[in-house]
Amino acid sequence: MRNFLFITLLLLSCTTMKVPAYKPANPIVAHRGAFKKNGFPENSIASLREAIRLGCAGSEFDVRMSADDSLVINHDPHHKKLEIEKTPYAELIPHPLSNGEKLPTLREYLLAGVKDNIHTDLVLEIKPSGLGAERARAIVDKVISLVKELKPSYRIVYISFDYNMCLRLLEKMPKAHVQYLNGDKTPDQLKADGIRGMDYSYNVYKKHPEWITRAKELGIVLNVWTVNEPSMIQDFLKQGFDLITTNEPEEGLKGETCLPAGRDEG
Ligand code: MG
Repeated sequence: MRNFLFITLLLLSCTTMKVPAYKPANPIVAHRGAFKKNGFPENSIASLREAIRLGCAGSEFDVRMSADDSLVINHDPHHKKLEIEKTPYAELIPHPLSNGEKLPTLREYLLAGVKDNIHTDLVLEIKPSGLGAERARAIVDKVISLVKELKPSYRIVYISFDYNMCLRLLEKMPKAHVQYLNGDKTPDQLKADGIRGMDYSYNVYKKHPEWITRAKELGIVLNVWTVNEPSMIQDFLKQGFDLITTNEPEEGLKGETCLPAGRDEG
């Protein structure tokens, strides 16, 4: 009887265990780092460091995998006309970014992101693969094994347009904070699948304003991309968005204290 009670209590405590609330330092995520104002290349370590220096709540970047399974940071499928997924890493690195930086690896990016970083979450977008579902799973698994190896002392927010990649992340790392980008799932679907954030284009929210209300009811983190006009930034803030992903983080941070309301390891 005592064992039965103990097991029942244990099960109850597991099912009621709450995921800690997400408390960003402020609402501003620098899209591809804070690149624009200073003329840094998008997705460079310089743009990441600038987002950290500004105290943005997050700095977003894009992850792809080379033909020989190196994780690199680049938005487009091509780097200097070389298709990343079909090119070995050694053939990519002779082509630096416009500021002279080497094409960063994910390892280098994460290590650069931990230095003197108090406020800024690393918003890690895993780009969909053009080489099929198996390869997509392999990319997710490679990202997870690197994160587990580095054990970063800061929070990573994972984002993807590929819903299966989001689900794979959660299968391998159930506590991961995952936000979905593609705008074709309702807040209820996201909640049911354990996805914590809705990170959709502003056009999606225009079409589905009811999703904003529902996401708030469900405790889904509300993020919007890519909002650059100051009046639009203010408009989404007034609507109660948790995060605004922008190419103009300096504009979004005006009037923000950048002081974190509290950190958690969610
Ligand atoms: Mg991106």
